[in-house]
Amino acid sequence: MKNFIVKPSGVQGKGVFAVRNFRQGEKILEIDDSHIVYDEATLTDDDWKYNADVVDGKIVIMQEPERCINHSCAPNSYTKTTQQIRTLFAMRDIAAGEEITYDYAINGDNDGAFPCQCGTTRCRKTYLGNYFKLPFDFQREYLPYLEDWFVQAHKDEIEALKNTISRQTIPPFTIFPAIDLRNGKIVRLAQGDPTRQTTYGDDPRAQAEQFKAEGADWIHVINLSGAFGEDAQANLKALEAILSVGLKVEFGGGIRDEETIRIPLEMGAERVFLGTAAIQNPALVDWAIARYGPSRIAADIGVRDGQVMVKGWQESTPLTMLEAGNRFRAQGLEWCVLTDVRRDGVGTGVSVDSAVELQTATSLKVVASGGVSSLEDVIRVKKAGLAGVIIGRALYEGKLSLEKALLESV
Ligand SMILES: [Zn+2]
Repeated sequence: MKNFIVKPSGVQGKGVFAVRNFRQGEKILEIDDSHIVYDEATLTDDDWKYNADVVDGKIVIMQEPERCINHSCAPNSYTKTTQQIRTLFAMRDIAAGEEITYDYAINGDNDGAFPCQCGTTRCRKTYLGNYFKLPFDFQREYLPYLEDWFVQAHKDEIEALKNTISRQTIPPFTIFPAIDLRNGKIVRLAQGDPTRQTTYGDDPRAQAEQFKAEGADWIHVINLSGAFGEDAQANLKALEAILSVGLKVEFGGGIRDEETIRIPLEMGAERVFLGTAAIQNPALVDWAIARYGPSRIAADIGVRDGQVMVKGWQESTPLTMLEAGNRFRAQGLEWCVLTDVRRDGVGTGVSVDSAVELQTATSLKVVASGGVSSLEDVIRVKKAGLAGVIIGRALYEGKLSLEKALLESV
């Protein structure tokens, strides 16, 4: 089946259009880099309209379809070259009928400049052919799409850019002591299993007071009753008691519709986090971000063996962690709690690598959860540059002092 056609484009001249849907990362076409070289005298106006270029003093016309792939400041494809073959891949999901574009400044180090009329909301108006002259946000976004040869050729500049990015994007580190609520009581589950429950107390307000006295700014509150489809009224009362202490609270568990987002936020919670609903109901995430802004909405994903889990982490989905994360970022989410389901509540050490992978690949602020059992775990998470860590069982069992952890985190 043919992947694309060449036809007149709204951007300029002819363009290359997808004739079927492409998934993010999928190969679209191979580009033949054996250029056709013409004398200038033989060029038609049409040739000049496309990618006629001067290389080593010769006029170079690329073949179709390559010569017809238009530039866009909001591209949907990128190239990778191996053994002289350039392959075009989808940068995001592409629908049949969309024009396939790339940003000419990716892997660009020339001083070309021309007016851009790509018509996208991200249009830079003047196209510059030099990646390093792009606005910073574009450079950061395109960094993973640079070709190896380009990175090799510009080692020092790339290194400097990476340093700038890590300085600018390392978020402040936050420790979130957790209160898991079931029927108004403070509990912890092992590996998310509702039958493996330990009850730690029945006074959520006193617990919140204690966290405050130890220096916490935030509390991570999980409504397990909501997550398991049980009556959540007692937990909402507990939330009210926790909020009365005056710390910032993020609240989640059983968030599945506009109502369950609205109630805790209007009660005074700073942020809600969506688990199953973030995966299964993207429209709800869009609604929540539009209404409350991205700082007040977070995704909370559990991952087991690389797959995203839903329904209180009892059911697996076909989505990988990075697929879910990329989707959240594209939707405008900024925060993501990542739980390694196997490690949660069993104190086997936090999974830093996957959290770093998620944060690096998506620029989400990733909060690691599950498996924190010592001060060393907290220090590892902070050193890895993650946005924060959630600590539960280790606090309740006295294995870790919140006060000491907070002192380490500044
Ligand atoms: Zn443009």
